Amino acid sequence: MKNYSSLKQIQQDLHGQKISCEELVLGYLGRIKNNKQINAFVETYSSEAIASARKIDSKIKLKTSGSLAGLVIGIKDNICYKDHHVSASSKILQGFVSPYSATVVDRLIEEDAIIIGRLNCDEFAMGSSNETSIYGPVKNPIDTDYTAGGSSGGSAAAVRANLCHASLGSDTGGSVRQPAAFCGVVGFKPTYGHVSRHGLIAFASSFDQIGPITKCVSDSRLIMDVISGKDNFDSTCIGEKTYSQKLEKRSKYSFAVIKDAVELPGIDPQVKAQFLDLIKKIKQEGHKVEYVDLPLLDYLTSAYYVMTTAEASSNLARYDGIKYGNAATSKDLVQLINTTRTENFGKEVKRRIMLGTFVLSSGYYDAYYTKAQKIRSLIKKDTEKILLKYNYILLPTTPNLPFMLGEKKPNLIQRYYEDVFTVQANLSGHPAISFPLKANYKFLASAQLIGKYFTDKDMLNTATQLSQY
Ligand code: GLN
Repeated sequence: MKNYSSLKQIQQDLHGQKISCEELVLGYLGRIKNNKQINAFVETYSSEAIASARKIDSKIKLKTSGSLAGLVIGIKDNICYKDHHVSASSKILQGFVSPYSATVVDRLIEEDAIIIGRLNCDEFAMGSSNETSIYGPVKNPIDTDYTAGGSSGGSAAAVRANLCHASLGSDTGGSVRQPAAFCGVVGFKPTYGHVSRHGLIAFASSFDQIGPITKCVSDSRLIMDVISGKDNFDSTCIGEKTYSQKLEKRSKYSFAVIKDAVELPGIDPQVKAQFLDLIKKIKQEGHKVEYVDLPLLDYLTSAYYVMTTAEASSNLARYDGIKYGNAATSKDLVQLINTTRTENFGKEVKRRIMLGTFVLSSGYYDAYYTKAQKIRSLIKKDTEKILLKYNYILLPTTPNLPFMLGEKKPNLIQRYYEDVFTVQANLSGHPAISFPLKANYKFLASAQLIGKYFTDKDMLNTATQLSQY
């Protein structure tokens, strides 16, 4: 089976009878088996995927197939699929079977996408290197000594290694964009409220969004067409109604480059060089590029970690050994809850629950949580202000290229700081896309576009254009 670079190519071959969905599924299953060392898939749904492939093959013959026919997709292990295991890569949910499907899963299946399995991730999506997973780290297919990024490390590595054509990840502070960047593929975080979170295991609910990881921008757009839109199961999902801020059709855009991001002390010189090269090409193509200030850049990571740990401490309170998943045995209620949580949560998850509980505690609420909320409002305002004057904000996706597995483990602050460029869009709720740059290096840097609220589709079109430079 050849390595397809777009769904369009796959569908052309399907309609030209050069390949069938069944052959596609068998091809991917073979590759998954031969690439176990990458550790991207936690589980595959072999017989089911083959059975749906056969059904879709007959639909293709009858010309009644859906828009995603031929798309073999993997889902992150925090997205629920009815009657299938879902664990958020945590011991506390190992063995748990979901009683319902996420809205995104239902919508994918309705359009004839084939779900081939669930993908490894950081425990409860907390991490940037997939090293907090109960299933062990995901390895970067470009060089297996390196991290694939996180928390959707399995989702990005699987697409890069051609183990499935596309995948879904979740992005709370960069978890779709950062691993996509580390694996040299495209990662998209929709506007907050554009894609339903129903059936996504919550980390920090006012930040979480499900997004696609694909080989090309146009595939992200095709997947977004299917998974986005109003959903009565998620009251924050307002869908497409607010497409009012649409950009008018044009081919020349204005970009605001965050000066402090490019000048960040500690930014990898290769990331900087590759990014500056993109700016040069963008200017050559006749677009406007100007440098702008974002004085709050220094505060973003701290505000993000205060607010998301606060939300996580509340969201993860439900894992008490009574309602869900693994439970310790004790006749004493408090002891049951204590032991269940002590034995079944990993170190990073415990750290975040404790940090979140601390920032919400009555003595420290104003000093941390309220302050972080204020920073969040300011960053929203600043981002909107920039986007009033420019069509897009442009910055690198990550300050560094992929690091070696284990390398950043001892230094927590350094690890959290890896998110410095991605958290802005989650704090403000704006859509953001990461796409790899073109250069002659082993690891490519990626650029990130941040667009106005609910202009996701326009932004995907612009990113298609830029990713060709
Ligand atoms: N790396 C970030 C964190 O650990 C992002 C996580 C995410 O987006 N799920 O919080």
